Amino acid sequence: MDGEGLYYSGRVLWVVKSGDRLYGKVLEDYPYYVEVDGDSSFCTCPRGGNCEHVRAVEIAYERGFYFDCPGEEPFGEGCAYSMLNSVPELRWKVLLRELEHALETDESGSDAAKLFYEAFKLLEKDPEGRKLKRIEVLLDEYSALFPDYAVTERLKSEFQRLRIRSVG
Ligand SMILES: [Zn+2]
Repeated sequence: MDGEGLYYSGRVLWVVKSGDRLYGKVLEDYPYYVEVDGDSSFCTCPRGGNCEHVRAVEIAYERGFYFDCPGEEPFGEGCAYSMLNSVPELRWKVLLRELEHALETDESGSDAAKLFYEAFKLLEKDPEGRKLKRIEVLLDEYSALFPDYAVTERLKSEFQRLRIRSVG
């Protein structure tokens, strides 16, 4: 898929601008991290830069899909998440996309389990019915993939607890 395809299929998870640099995360078969500094670029994909992921991040930036971040840090990820945490609806969308991606690609289930815990934290603050339903469906998928993991049982009972609380 080229940069436009990646951008328009919603695979650019976030972009931050810090000084003259752009940082971004793009979900393809794996998550890739991008840094653009003027004419030079770096990407964690096998090509290492000047790739479709860099292009996708540039297109997102041109379309205004980015956060302005103070300070500099490697790959801008910490800043991206602190900005996202200040916009709960956007944070939720990004988390769902990461979780869906993890369910498709994460053979160990470890990333997906971590993302479920993050989703539970957000649901604890805002146990909206629609969001609970969405996580319930994804958790069913997880259970089907990893039926005999102890972590599956723990995730399910944690989710039950949240759901009971939101009803009562
Ligand atoms: Zn790349």
